[in-house]
Amino acid sequence: MQFKDYQYQRPDVESFKRDFNAYLEDFNHSESVEEQNDVLMKIMKLRNTAETMFTLASIRSSINTKDEFYDKEKEFADVNSPLFQEMVVELYKALLASKFRPQLEQKWGKHIFNIAEVELKTFSPEVITLMQEENKLASEYQKLRASAEIEMDGKILNLAQMVPYRQSKDRKIRQEASEKMFGFFAENQDKFDELYDKMVKLRHKIAVKLGFDNYVQLGYYRLVRTDYTAKDVAAYRQQVAETLVPVSLDLKKRQQKRLGLSEFKYYDEPLNFLTGNPTPKGEEAELVASAKLMYSELSPETKEFFDFMTEHKLMDLVTKAGKAGGGYCTYMPDFRSPFIFSNFNGTSHDVDVLTHEAGHAFQVYQSRDYALAEYVWPTYEACEIHSMSMEFFAWPWMDKFFKEDEAKYKFSHLEGALNFIPYGVTVDEFQHYVYENPEATPAERRAKWREIEKKYLPYRDYDGNKFLEDGGFWFMQGHIFTTPFYYIDYTLAQVCAFEFWGKQQEDRAKAWADYLRLCRAGGSDSFLNLLKVGNLHNPFIPGTIAKIIEPIKTYLDNVDDSKF
Ligand code: ZN
Repeated sequence: MQFKDYQYQRPDVESFKRDFNAYLEDFNHSESVEEQNDVLMKIMKLRNTAETMFTLASIRSSINTKDEFYDKEKEFADVNSPLFQEMVVELYKALLASKFRPQLEQKWGKHIFNIAEVELKTFSPEVITLMQEENKLASEYQKLRASAEIEMDGKILNLAQMVPYRQSKDRKIRQEASEKMFGFFAENQDKFDELYDKMVKLRHKIAVKLGFDNYVQLGYYRLVRTDYTAKDVAAYRQQVAETLVPVSLDLKKRQQKRLGLSEFKYYDEPLNFLTGNPTPKGEEAELVASAKLMYSELSPETKEFFDFMTEHKLMDLVTKAGKAGGGYCTYMPDFRSPFIFSNFNGTSHDVDVLTHEAGHAFQVYQSRDYALAEYVWPTYEACEIHSMSMEFFAWPWMDKFFKEDEAKYKFSHLEGALNFIPYGVTVDEFQHYVYENPEATPAERRAKWREIEKKYLPYRDYDGNKFLEDGGFWFMQGHIFTTPFYYIDYTLAQVCAFEFWGKQQEDRAKAWADYLRLCRAGGSDSFLNLLKVGNLHNPFIPGTIAKIIEPIKTYLDNVDDSKF
């Protein structure tokens, strides 16, 4: 069966609720652990079917946003999925209260109970209306961003369309593009300030109502972080400041030299090479054919996985009229199928889809046999290890995708990944300040941002741009508004992926075995325990980053980038 033949049927909310409640009754009155476990499996099946249908509707509506049928179904899913979540909360309560808990823990491990505990801490009926308000504010941010109409090159452009201009080889153009883009944020400074201020105060209020001192720990629990705290993350940021910032500064100096500039301004940063960024050679058909070859040679597991994706047509890659923007990887449990969605644009991003998003899809394909829905995907920081490491496992085949640009691609891949971490940490430290000081004024917040930026991005020169000098850069970072504390996950995963890069240089077979074991563990354990499964070092422990980036640094030092 191909994706187009997957049958959609709208979930019936009433019967779902009825069945779910009946099962919960059965669960609570089970006479044995076997009986309770059987009921648990029935509940999982019920949840999986609803989730499969919601996901299917959402995929089809993103492939064609003009499809009226799936547009309605997606709306139905948006309205009704919170109801399903409410039922899951009831399941968590029942699980935690189970008289067979020790036996269930033996069967499923402690992690499901830790998840249940944390999820319950983030929720109470008295915060529902506040949470709805929070969602509304998040959509307002998206709308405000989407309202950008920037005049450039005789056209009216949105923020995404500004990217190529910001990377222009012509310095005047990239300067103009950056100034105009941030000009949009500067013009709307009051609106962004007001919106964010509302969000921060609202989140603080929710946190206090739920019994927390402030939003920080609630934010961590919402991301289901069960085994590390803000203190661990602060120590990790300290490592970044000490070990990575000097390396990043050095890389930025090399970039400045490559570009032949006597002064390196913020608007120069998006351009990496005067000869342009590395691009894949070929269109969709060639790139997918190369990916097929790559995955067939990489391992038997990747071959089976990618054959499955192509045979069932589980990828929609090319930009088409009416298609939603962006890219994602998702999963439909009842069809046991991952799905990859993207908008190819002729940049190296197209190859990232076939490595990064495919890495996510590969993991979920490997862990799809877990009967507990909670164990199929792990938390975000672990998820990104699968995707970012697959980008590195794919390296030996990059000549197929980039041809003469291979060496340039590899250099910029490592360089970009490394330079990203200090920025990611900036975003994270800023948010800790914000939620620990909910009464700070917008001006105080912006001043703090600039102060933190100077610590982690010491090369940044805003060329006297008042808005940016005052600390407004973060207005463009959507995560800060919509998903607090999420951003650090990308940096944690990048450090782990770097470790896989290093392991591959030493013993590729062993590195792959570790990676495969990690993928197969899915979300069956917490972040730090999953690291143990993958034989990875804990990035929170001082000294870890220094050790991991050593071979990366050596590699970059030995590349003659003047020839790019
Ligand atoms: Zn990802």
